[in-house]
Amino acid sequence: MKSAGTEKCPVCSGLEEYIETADYSLPGSAEKLVPPNEDLEYYYRISADRKILKCPRCASFYLYCQWEPGGSDDAMSTSLYRSISPMKYIDVHRLLLIDLEYLNQRALMEPEFYSETRDRFRKGVEKELAFLRGKTSVIIKEALDILEKKNSLLVAEVYREREEAYEREIAAIAKEYLEIIPEQEQTLILRIRTALENIC
Ligand SMILES: [Zn+2]
Repeated sequence: MKSAGTEKCPVCSGLEEYIETADYSLPGSAEKLVPPNEDLEYYYRISADRKILKCPRCASFYLYCQWEPGGSDDAMSTSLYRSISPMKYIDVHRLLLIDLEYLNQRALMEPEFYSETRDRFRKGVEKELAFLRGKTSVIIKEALDILEKKNSLLVAEVYREREEAYEREIAAIAKEYLEIIPEQEQTLILRIRTALENIC
């Protein structure tokens, strides 16, 4: 059975790790990545600083970020930092929810500017979540990596709260996938139940 990440994809080769550049250039293959669907792209056109991109060939996800080195007040700067890094499916799910929540807030405050964008973004989120529901076992494994490792116990204290919040969000998402994981995945199901008990 084919699955993303187990085969060499010509677009994704060279993009396996975090890449950051101080000018406009990223590896050529990064330019081949596309927004996951046109409803998400509709929002990304007005908010280009952070977006999810997808490989058109193997459906691997990436996080793209861009920023000015001195912040937007730095009028002297002419360069733009850009980064690209592979994303776990469960982090895609989490970031889609975060951006949707942000747009819900904006649409409440400025409906005339944000309602349509929010509505389309929500449609786009639904499309990607439908795709992710087909990857349940992979997502549960990703959640186990995060919840069993428990980085929050390893990081310096200043980061602990943030890390714990992240683990709780991952646990909440994992619970949704636990509802739909195929029954034959008994080992995974037992492990994730134990991990979830230890989080809550
Ligand atoms: Zn690919």
